[in-house]
Formats: sequence, structure tokens, C-alpha cells
Amino acid sequence: MSATAGTARIARLAAGLEEPLLVLDPTNVRYLVGFRSSNPALLVRPDGHATLYSDFRYAEAGQAAAAAAEVEFVVSGRALLKDLAARLTGRIGFEAGFVTYDGWEALGTGGAELVPRRGNVQALRAVKDEAEVDAIRRACAITTATYERIAEEGLVGRTERDVAARIEQLFRELGADGAAFASIVAAGANGALPHADPGDRPIAAGTLVTIDCGAQVAGYCADCTRTFATGPLSDELARAYVVCLAAEEAGLAAICPGGVGAAVHEAAHAVIRAAGWGEQFGHGLGHGVGLAVHEAPALRPESEDVLAAGNVVSCEPGIYLPGSGGVRIEDLVVVRDGAPEILTLFPKALLTVG
Ligand code: ZN
Ligand code: ZN
Repeated sequence: MSATAGTARIARLAAGLEEPLLVLDPTNVRYLVGFRSSNPALLVRPDGHATLYSDFRYAEAGQAAAAAAEVEFVVSGRALLKDLAARLTGRIGFEAGFVTYDGWEALGTGGAELVPRRGNVQALRAVKDEAEVDAIRRACAITTATYERIAEEGLVGRTERDVAARIEQLFRELGADGAAFASIVAAGANGALPHADPGDRPIAAGTLVTIDCGAQVAGYCADCTRTFATGPLSDELARAYVVCLAAEEAGLAAICPGGVGAAVHEAAHAVIRAAGWGEQFGHGLGHGVGLAVHEAPALRPESEDVLAAGNVVSCEPGIYLPGSGGVRIEDLVVVRDGAPEILTLFPKALLTVG
């Protein structure tokens, strides 16, 4: 991120605050000031002044990040929350979704009046600037190139675990930092488990293989799923693929500024329900992706999130048929005025890979 991006992000956060907000989620701190630490805190005051804290291991990097973002830096003790408790007074907002009960107790040992706050930084993170979109676009291009290589190299006879390891090797070879999350490779009946762990059985011919993976570039994540055939399919699996693809396209068509999370989910779910598999699609249609692979906004039945231009969201319906297999197709897109910009460009027509 550029120095001016950090300054602007802090100013936007400050503008919405009623009292100082103590940001403790390391991903939120990284977003605001470009500082990577396992033990950071950033106190942002409503007037826009901010103080970054971290222990001596991070003193040098903290100084540099603070200078770039035009905030103060203070070296804290390793027991960060205890240290902060002794420094803070008055009403202090804290990230209720991140601080543990133990952490809340430690923060409460000083004189501050703790006020739970939720989603302040997440709401900013949900709308990407073009530099962020560019990093995600590069991560998606590497993910697409990886799918091309995996399809060329073949699937039948390899184990799910082998394919998953190869994906992560390709990400690095192609210039990514690494994998954004543990790759899912689920063949045959394992495909009916949305988050199957890759196993050691060789992949068989004549079934579906679901691969869900994403590279990471400059801290930003890709997230893409494709389902391949390994030979002629049963009528049921062939039909499941056609229905899932139609649902995915319906979901994409509903993604636009002003779209409500629940309604976008429903656009895809209705297609699967009409095919008689409404119960076999048991997860949300999609989620925001950025520095974290799961972030705001949410596309799922109970979501009231409203899409805005600059959101980056996944669209990933699935049909899971216990005992026989499953299909999931996932694109990552940027919400734009008009049609979304699709970042995951590997083809979606059913591809047979031997
Ligand atoms: Zn995924
Ligand atoms: Zn996803």
C-alpha cells in the first residue's frame, strides 16, 4: 500500500468513530497502516490521530510503517493488552468480534471504559481500491494458470493430496507468495463434502473432482473452484454440473451495486431448487475476499449486506450428493456499475481430464 492510502484509510475510519477505537486484529492493522505484526494494536481517535503499538521484535518495522502512515509509534511490552490497559483511559471502543474473553479481562484491568464495536474496519476493507483489485487480479491470474497446468498434467491415478501439493508448488513457481488457504481436492464421493481434506486414495476415472484453491499475492487472496470430469459421468453427476453452472451464472447476473446478500444468494439457490436439489446446496453463495479469504460482504440467506462497487466477492454454488459426488463452481468478481468484472478466467464448460 502507498503511504497516502494508509493516511486516507485512517481518516475514513476516524470519521465514523464516536470514541477512540482500539484495533487489535492484525489484518485490520495491516490494512490501515501496512504493518505486519503478530502482536500489534492501533488506537485511532475520532480526530484522526492514531498510535501504533507493538513489542520490541517489531520496533524497526513499526517505526517505518508509522512514519509512512503519519501515525505515532510506541514500543509496548510483549504482554500487549496488559500494557495497553495501563495506558488507556476514558471510553475506548474495542473489536468485539476479535478480542477473546481473556483479552477483554486483561484490557479491563486499567482505567478504560470498554465499549464493544463491530465491523468498523471490515466495512472499509470490503470496498477495494484499484491497487487492491490489481493484487487480487494478479493472484487470480496465477490461480488460472495453475488450473491450466493441473488440467494438462492430468488427475486420474494421482492422489488428492498429490494434486493439492502440486497446486501449492505451482503457485510459488508462478510468482505467488504461496497459497491463500489449504487447497481442497475432492474426488468421487469426497466431492459431496464441501470442505473435504485431500486424501491418499488415487483419483478414479468417470467421476467429478472438485478443486478449490487460491494463490496469494502481496497479501491479497484469490479464491476459485472448478470441477473436472475424469471420464464419462453418470446421468446424475452430468446433470448436477449443468444445474450448478446455471446457478453460478444466475448468481453472477444478480451481483451489482445495491444487490442485497440474501437476494443474490436466492438468485442462484432458486435455480438449484427448481432442479430438485435445494437441500443439497447447504452453504452461502459467496463471501468477500481481500487480505482475508473470508471477509465482508456475505452472500447467504440471512445476509442484509448491500453490495457496493469495489466489493470483491465469490460466487460459488454447489450441489452435494452423498455417496456419489459433488460439484462446485466458484468465480471471484469485482462488483462494478453494470456487470461484475470476473477475475477467475479458467473456462467453466465441463472439461474432461484423464
Ligand atoms: Zn473457494
Ligand atoms: Zn470461497
